[in-house]
Amino acid sequence: MSEANVSAKVTDEADVVLIGAGIMSATLGAMLKQLEPTWSQIIFERLDVPAEESSSPWNNAGTGHSALCELNYTPLQHGEVNIAKAVRINEKFQVSRQFWSHQVDNGILTDPREFINPVPHVSFGRGDEQVAYIKQRYEKLSKHTLFEGMQYSDDDAKFAEFLPLMAKGRDFEAEKVNISWFEGGTDINYGAQAKQFLEAAQKGGTEIRYGHEVVTIKADGAKWKIVAKNVHTGDISTVKASFVFVGAGGMALPLLQKSGIKEIKGYGGFPVSGAWLRCTNDELIEQHAAKVYGQASVGTPPMSVPHLDTRVIDGKKGLLFGPYAGWTPKFLKQGSFLDLFKSFRPTNLPSYMGVGVQEMGLTKYLITEVMKDEAARLESLREYMPTAKAEDWELVMAGQRVQIIKPSGAPRFGSLEFGTALINNPEGTIAGLLGASPGASIAPSAMIEVLERCFGNRMIEWGPKLKEMVPTYGVALSGDKQLFREVWDRTQQTLKLED
Ligand SMILES: Cc1cc2nc3c(=O)[nH]c(=O)nc-3n(C[C@H](O)[C@H](O)[C@H](O)COP(=O)(O)OP(=O)(O)OC[C@H]3O[C@@H](n4cnc5c(N)ncnc54)[C@H](O)[C@@H]3O)c2cc1C
Repeated sequence: MSEANVSAKVTDEADVVLIGAGIMSATLGAMLKQLEPTWSQIIFERLDVPAEESSSPWNNAGTGHSALCELNYTPLQHGEVNIAKAVRINEKFQVSRQFWSHQVDNGILTDPREFINPVPHVSFGRGDEQVAYIKQRYEKLSKHTLFEGMQYSDDDAKFAEFLPLMAKGRDFEAEKVNISWFEGGTDINYGAQAKQFLEAAQKGGTEIRYGHEVVTIKADGAKWKIVAKNVHTGDISTVKASFVFVGAGGMALPLLQKSGIKEIKGYGGFPVSGAWLRCTNDELIEQHAAKVYGQASVGTPPMSVPHLDTRVIDGKKGLLFGPYAGWTPKFLKQGSFLDLFKSFRPTNLPSYMGVGVQEMGLTKYLITEVMKDEAARLESLREYMPTAKAEDWELVMAGQRVQIIKPSGAPRFGSLEFGTALINNPEGTIAGLLGASPGASIAPSAMIEVLERCFGNRMIEWGPKLKEMVPTYGVALSGDKQLFREVWDRTQQTLKLED
């Protein structure tokens, strides 16, 4: 990497090119700037503003995913709740909390209240089966270091005190309910956080080319040639870079395909759109203060888990319910109807066909969701809030998710995955992130994985700095109660999550 290009001047060479100005590129850019301040960085963003796709606050649910309330991270297997995935996700979220705290301490992130706020996380069970599951889940998690402090109740009066909006009009006699909750949950505005990172990046010399869509990425010796189109003038510009991160959200798949790296062969993408009901009645919004996650219906995918969610956006409380899934072939909310079809390649057609055959349940679920009219949507909301009225809610489109279709087995028939996959070439000169879950919440650990995979030979040198950014880097907090408490208390304070 060269030692030049530290200023903000326009250049056709850069050490690092980041494609997309969402939370992933913003996080990786911040890490690299602190690890290698002399490396020049250019960010390309097709829109005229940052973080307007999945990272925008109303395009995602803003849950600080740490498996406190999300039931799909604790599956029931042969009658036993398996908490392994929940522990892994929570560990990753502790990395996020530490990284964000370090950024606040160092003035990169300026005001934590603009992007993170305390909101209790609640798991909600209805009917005998779900009630038994929530109880067992609570019994297992509450004994674990990372979930210590989780609370539980099957008392109707407690339910009414804690969740008045969900209690009103509920027939407690007809159906048993229970809840477990964790006071230290969070609501996060990843759009605001990305903007704070990007403002600091620009001040530090990073050039952000808004309104520039990357159209292709080509190998050029040991470097990459990134070709971008100015979406307003049609002008084409080219930048040569030593390292490229494809943080283009749903468009990561097509861009990685264009780069020609063999690691992306066989992968496909399955786009799923979504919608929320957003509450327009301030009186109702004030009566709810929690993120309440229920159980997905049997046979439906994890992204179908419904939740009634307090949001804090631009200092104002909000309330959303959903998501209701939908379908479009676009890979971005502001994408093209041709996105899916353009991603077909001879190498990934078996993957697409394999998923088409295996995922009939998903197809059926999506058709049912797409067919839902206002009355059906309201009926789903009333399972949470029995007194809900249509006039208090408006339908808004959520962001686009592109679920990963992974090549698997011979002859590489695909499987649909609901997590994320990091793709990089063996030289570590290009990487990109596919998929959307658990998403923005674990951006710091996902981006540390990019560093480990692509800059393995520098990790010893970077170790001390990484330890400053994430003091427990490489240590599992699950195994050290005291350390976990110290980390928790410190990050609560720095991120202003204390009452
Ligand atoms: C409905 C929904 C709910 C979610 N809920 C949560 C949640 O509660 N908690 C959580 O942690 N995560 C959640 N997520 C996931 C989270 O939103 C994403 O993981 C995260 O925002 C992805 O960030 P990103 O930077 O990779 O992508 P994005 O924010 O989508 O950014 C990608 C950027 O790349 C740009 N771009 C694309 N193609 C090009 C190109 N060719 N040239 C230049 N620029 C390009 C786009 O315009 C965009 O700005 C949710 C997602 C959805 C859709």
